[in-house]
Amino acid sequence: MIHQLSVTLPPELAYDDAAFREQALRSLHLPTDSTAVVRKRRQSVDARGRQIRVHVDADVFVGEQPPALLQYKKPQVDVSRAPQAIIVGAGPAGMFAALRLIELGIKPIILERGSDVRARRRDLAAINKDHIVNPESNYCFGEGGAGTYSDGKLYTRSTKRGDVRRILEIFVAHGATDEILVDAHPHIGTNKLPQVVADMRASILEAGGEVRFNTKVIDLILEKKEIRGVITSAGPDAQPEEVAGIGVILATGHSARDIFHLLHDRNVTIEAKPFAMGVRIEHQQSLIDQFQYHRPDRGDYLPAASYSLVTQTRFNGVERGVFSFCMCPGGFIVPAATSPGELVVNGMSPSRRDSKYANSGLVVAITDNDLRPYADEGPLAGLALQQELERWACRAGGGTDTLSSQTAPAQRVADFVDGRISDTLLPTSYQPGLASVDMYDVLPDHIAQPLRQGLRDFGKKMRGYLSNDGQLIGIESRTSSPVRIPRHRDTCEHVEVQRLFPCGEGAGYAGGIVSAAMDGERCADELAKLYKAGGRGL
Ligand code: FAD
Repeated sequence: MIHQLSVTLPPELAYDDAAFREQALRSLHLPTDSTAVVRKRRQSVDARGRQIRVHVDADVFVGEQPPALLQYKKPQVDVSRAPQAIIVGAGPAGMFAALRLIELGIKPIILERGSDVRARRRDLAAINKDHIVNPESNYCFGEGGAGTYSDGKLYTRSTKRGDVRRILEIFVAHGATDEILVDAHPHIGTNKLPQVVADMRASILEAGGEVRFNTKVIDLILEKKEIRGVITSAGPDAQPEEVAGIGVILATGHSARDIFHLLHDRNVTIEAKPFAMGVRIEHQQSLIDQFQYHRPDRGDYLPAASYSLVTQTRFNGVERGVFSFCMCPGGFIVPAATSPGELVVNGMSPSRRDSKYANSGLVVAITDNDLRPYADEGPLAGLALQQELERWACRAGGGTDTLSSQTAPAQRVADFVDGRISDTLLPTSYQPGLASVDMYDVLPDHIAQPLRQGLRDFGKKMRGYLSNDGQLIGIESRTSSPVRIPRHRDTCEHVEVQRLFPCGEGAGYAGGIVSAAMDGERCADELAKLYKAGGRGL
């Protein structure tokens, strides 16, 4: 017999497994030594009132075994001799596309410019400690893509685009905690993600798929309006190589500027797309906890508190949204540039979210008007603005043509709003260090002024947010792709180039790990459908 339970409990009863089990059995008038199995379905914190409560939905199985936790099963097939499809990029979109192709009986070959997760660690240490950015292996490029050394938040608003539960189950089947199936705001954490990604690679290889690291796609093999394969380079000393496939899933992420240029140069249609830019804001996590939980500290059971802020501003007669983005409770700010001479910040957190800092992107919508000075760049205008601001940020932090620097420009929040350069900066989680600057010299007015208005508004909503106990760290410029690679809505094929499947965040069809993963699966489904229908002369 299955009893469905919906209870609201204080955190110490909801988050402690033994205490929750006892509570669940009691509420069903069952003895606490019963053999019943208690399984949570969903849990979420409600911090709206003075008393913090956790809502938990659970199933209690009395006298019967619960069904398997996961519907998903790792593919037990051998596709090594099956027809092969190319996947460019080993981010979430590429990895999930590969696993799905295997299920559909097609051999995936993943081509990834960066290194595997282990070798990537060295490149990240070089950015943080020595300020050296390897343009092929960094926080955005390498096995697992931007999703590996990321925050690992797994919630998405794109629930209509695919099966979120299935994506979470695939993560669990590859070593992620099963708590992500239950939490309203699931999170893996940057310390756990590399192993999960390596396990996914192992599944691909065991089933006969291929993964080639340090292999960059430098050209496309196009015949009329059909793609036959790609040309790769495995380094300056290696001969370029042709790789052919029954289709190409292009999942290169929003930072692969060379791919956008390549497509444009090869007359493959791309278009500009709305995006946003700004800064990261960092406070003490305790300040955010106090505000959200209305108590001096969060205690032993509550997770580090997060926030989400949004407002509308008006500058030079133009309305602009200002909003928090990718908030990382108990996290770190990291240097996420992909080229030397540029500076980009982003955020991540470990699974326990136990750093003393809270950071979040705080970004401003970019309008067509802002891109006018870059009109000559056509659909690459947003990319040009982004790149120019990243170079300014690098210089503002002390970088020069000859000196590589990842020291980030920074200003305390109240000083920024009042237009004062900060005499001193606060301690920070950003490892390469900070330089005190006037952020109005780093950000153009169409970002700085709406940001200032937005901060005034956020200061009214959250006490302590607008104060010199927080600081702005620049710049957060890679929130989403400034370019879209257009594709047919139903088949996911590029609007002109047959058998090319633009995929994931870089193509403009995802914004985050889960939505990129779902899009990877979708493109794999469509590629397989086309192949099995014998379409396009296959
Ligand atoms: P990507 O992950 O960008 O992967 C693209 C891959 O393509 C890369 O590995 C790249 O090396 C490869 N590639 C590029 N060009 C070539 C080429 N020419 N040849 C071969 N390979 C190529 N999202 C969340 O949902 N939650 C979070 O908490 C979160 N935190 C983040 C924290 C950080 C620090 C960063 C940087 C990002 C974070 N994101 C987060 C965003 C998330 O990582 C991306 O949305 C997601 O990874 C996009 O997936 P993708 O597969 O489309 O592209």
